[in-house]
Amino acid sequence: MPFNKKKEAPKAAPAPAPKKVEKAVDGEEKEKKGGAKAPPELLRGFRDILPEEQGKWNFVRDSVRNLAEAYSFDRIDLPILERADLFQRTVGKQTDIIEKEMYAFVDPSDRMVALRPEATASCARAYINHGMLDRPQPVKLWYEGAMFRHDRPQAGRYRQFYQAGFEVFGTHEPIMDAQLIVLGYQIFKDLGLNVKVQVNSIGTPESRQAYLAELTSYFRPHRNKLSEDDKRRLQKSPLRLLDSKEEGMKELLAEAPQILDWLDDASKEHFTKVLEFLEEIQVPYVLNPHLVRGLEYYTHTVFEFVLDNDEPERAQNALGGGGRYNGLVELIGGRPTPACGFAIGMDRVAKALGEMGINPPQRPDPQVFFAQLGDAARRVGLKLYEDFRMAQIPVAEAFGKNALKAQLEAANKLAVQYTIILGQKEVLDGTIIIRDMESGAQEIVDINKIVAVVKKKLSSEKEARVVVHQSPVARE
Ligand code: AMP
Repeated sequence: MPFNKKKEAPKAAPAPAPKKVEKAVDGEEKEKKGGAKAPPELLRGFRDILPEEQGKWNFVRDSVRNLAEAYSFDRIDLPILERADLFQRTVGKQTDIIEKEMYAFVDPSDRMVALRPEATASCARAYINHGMLDRPQPVKLWYEGAMFRHDRPQAGRYRQFYQAGFEVFGTHEPIMDAQLIVLGYQIFKDLGLNVKVQVNSIGTPESRQAYLAELTSYFRPHRNKLSEDDKRRLQKSPLRLLDSKEEGMKELLAEAPQILDWLDDASKEHFTKVLEFLEEIQVPYVLNPHLVRGLEYYTHTVFEFVLDNDEPERAQNALGGGGRYNGLVELIGGRPTPACGFAIGMDRVAKALGEMGINPPQRPDPQVFFAQLGDAARRVGLKLYEDFRMAQIPVAEAFGKNALKAQLEAANKLAVQYTIILGQKEVLDGTIIIRDMESGAQEIVDINKIVAVVKKKLSSEKEARVVVHQSPVARE
């Protein structure tokens, strides 16, 4: 369609009048009718991850991907929106995630849907939907993406956050639990983060029954000392009492019966083997008898990766966790399939890297700046830019600026080694100027040879740097 020909806009319902947004007491936004136009605000608990933070994020994403591939996991991308009952059935109705935190709503087709609070259930759904049971087992999948929980926002806790997860379907072998722990441990090691691995076993649902009865009768006489939340847990999901962070629970928990003493023989054997594998490969772990994890689908091994820093109690130190979930696939209609997995919280990992001063550049620094003067130079420059790109030499430019001075200033700011300058005269002569930004020396070069000349200069400079670096004696 010609640019100047206006197409009639399709008729749409009139847009509602802009509403003024006002902060309510709890920091949530409250809409107020009318009022002046205010700039759009982010929803509470949501944030932008800006370009200057992307270096850390790329570091995390690259490590996750490299290790996922090294351990033969296949990538899967799953939808962000699913039927709400997928999570209600799997995560568990009595969990905080489902009870209070799920972004669930009725969609325009009158279906109850939810923004995924986690992705293990979606992975299990995909495993069933795509008949992955017929593939060679185990099926090892990894993913990465945004999760949503309407939690109370605080440091390291967002309503949209990112997880990278690993799930293995089709084996009950304890070696798999152990290898997942090794994989998580290696990811953190790769990133330079010191983590402690905490492990526990919560057995099978059947073996847990007697323990739950014991736990309930232990807590019942202390009921009046419990918070409202813990009273509810005592009634509906007593296992969750074990990871209660409420004040005053510490002493009660110290004396509470421990689940490991109540495991049936098969569960004990499974767990012992996992620990033996970890010892064999020398991954240090800590037994945490109170570790149960917030989701109901776990069986046997549960584990968590906790940042080992000088603030051991800090909630955002939990960098990831997971466990075995042998009943999940069957729970959502598949054939009984043993499975296990874990997810790491990428926001918290990126934060921990930032606290250690690690923030690599998000892309290679440009080494060359292209300055152009006039339209003819721009036309030639566009092609030249492609030639450099194909030679894998990152080039910066300031196409929005016309004056040479402004462009050289921009080049200086970027600390490039060379600026190549193309003016009217050079275009006519088929040449280009190359300027050494440190010495200010300029040379005129045949434009057809400029990529090769720059490449040579950069590589000899690199060599010179290596020589200087390698022989401190020669420098003296
Ligand atoms: P979960 O799915 O609850 O087992 O969480 C696994 C990891 O995701 C945790 O260890 C955290 O690192 C991270 N995580 C969970 N919830 C949040 C949140 N609301 N904000 C940021 N990270 C989170």
